[in-house]
Amino acid sequence: ETTSAPNFIRTLIEEELATGKYEQIVTRFPPEPNGYLHIGHAKSICLNFGLAEHFEGACNLRFDDTNPEKESQEYIDSIQADVKWLGFNWTGKVRYTSEYFDTLYEYAVELIKSGKAYVCELNPEEMREYRGTLTEAGKNSPFRDRSVEENLDQFERMRAGEFEDGAKVLRAKIDMAAPNINLRDPILYRIRRAHHHQTGDKWCIYPNYDFAHGQSDAIEGVTHSVCTLEFEDHRPLYNWFIENLPVPAQPKQIEFSRLNVNYTVTSKRKLKLLVDENHVAGWDDPRMPTISGMRRRGYTPNSVRKFCDMIGVTRSDGVVDVAMLYHALRSDLEENAPRAMCVLDPIKVTITNYPEDQTEEFVVPAHPADESMGERTLPFSRTLLIESEDFMEDAPKKFFRLTQGKEVRLRNAYVIKCEEVIKDENGKVVELLCTYDPETLGKNPEGRKVKGVIHWVSEEHAVPAEVRLYENLFTDENPDGHKDTSFLDFINPESLTVTTGYCEPSLLTAAAETNFQFERIGYFVSDRYDHGVDGKLVFNKTVGLKDSWAK
Ligand code: ATP
Ligand code: MG
Ligand code: MG
Repeated sequence: ETTSAPNFIRTLIEEELATGKYEQIVTRFPPEPNGYLHIGHAKSICLNFGLAEHFEGACNLRFDDTNPEKESQEYIDSIQADVKWLGFNWTGKVRYTSEYFDTLYEYAVELIKSGKAYVCELNPEEMREYRGTLTEAGKNSPFRDRSVEENLDQFERMRAGEFEDGAKVLRAKIDMAAPNINLRDPILYRIRRAHHHQTGDKWCIYPNYDFAHGQSDAIEGVTHSVCTLEFEDHRPLYNWFIENLPVPAQPKQIEFSRLNVNYTVTSKRKLKLLVDENHVAGWDDPRMPTISGMRRRGYTPNSVRKFCDMIGVTRSDGVVDVAMLYHALRSDLEENAPRAMCVLDPIKVTITNYPEDQTEEFVVPAHPADESMGERTLPFSRTLLIESEDFMEDAPKKFFRLTQGKEVRLRNAYVIKCEEVIKDENGKVVELLCTYDPETLGKNPEGRKVKGVIHWVSEEHAVPAEVRLYENLFTDENPDGHKDTSFLDFINPESLTVTTGYCEPSLLTAAAETNFQFERIGYFVSDRYDHGVDGKLVFNKTVGLKDSWAK
């Protein structure tokens, strides 16, 4: 069981199964392969595959490929990889709407034969004018009363390639005065000489989304066609096709609200712009809200699924605070990421009373609360590196890190005391001379309390790594919500900082794509692609330690 939170769709299906309306449910996830999947799609994936898992039904993966110019095999491959990475499996083979083009063509012919579709030659501008507005009924097209024979002949010739792209369309004959504009003789087919990634040059006419979607659902025996709320107004049309065509099943459309997350955009078109204009390094840049970007950033499948559970499924729109996503991420990593020490901005510490040529090895748990994660070895020596912000001269009383004349505990090691501060000619602190108390390994010092704990590495054993620090890609909470600006105007120029970190040597054997908590700094992941290449270590910052999500 993956999706544990109940929701209104699940409740509805429970009732339908109880009354015997269905024996088994079939859902589908129907992406258009015109970009990479994003966090919004994860919600739809968790819902559709989650329902199928919960009710032991089926969930199809269907590529909704009716716009060949915008689609590609790269997108098809990435979508399959992302669904699998999230931990879901589709039922049977991958499906494509384009597999049904022959059947959809026959359905169109059926509609023409029953006098419910016609070939129209209005140009797009006239079409718009005839359509009317929300407050004003439309007008019938002058082509609306063509005979069935003429329409059959015209449509066949559209398919045969006798007309220019865009010269004619096939429209349903429904009602130009319908209050719902989607019912004002919607377009079913348009002429487009576009090479299709699946069907090649077989077709020069392509069905529209509305004409393809419900019928494809019916062909596949989908029982519950779950989609986002913007399709609510299309539902009467969805049903009109199902009622007026000899389809093999009666799928039902159910809508839920889209996921929006603040400080980002979730629209493939906008994400594509970020990629095409090189604002990011690609669809899987760790700053992108794409599933592959989040994966590279260090999100785990569990954390994404947990987040989808937390947000639930409703019919009310809203914006989810990205802090909630980070919260789901942290709570998974807190439990499952092994610990390590890494110093990002080092300052040298010399332990003057520690023998010059001595090295000790401390064997410590990989995770303080989970023995099953094993152990790691920390070499300790006379010269160490600590984080420069963990030292302060003239520190206030509440500074529980290192300051002159005071003690601090080195995580997993001894208590040290800062005796002397060495500065360069500009007055910058370059080294701290400290002493250690040999009696403090694994136990508290006698007669005094040491509050602070800081992380460290042994200088000669430390392993340098490229560390990529990420911030939100946008500086504005609602980058796309302002009148006279584009979301591109809010790109955070400091969303990526590349620095060098000095890691404990156990990280030398870390495989790519392994999550860690760098103690006191945050969660990091070894880069999926670059880590380990030519022996170089590369870590991406996933998220900081401090949780700011308030329920
Ligand atoms: P985009 O606006 O990003 O292009 P889309 O809806 O056009 O998204 P599709 O490929 O058609 O993308 O989406 C596949 C499925 O994912 C659809 O059922 C769609 O409703 C759902 N989906 C897309 N975006 C979201 C979102 N933000 N929240 C929930 N579901 C979404
Ligand atoms: Mg779509
Ligand atoms: Mg879209």
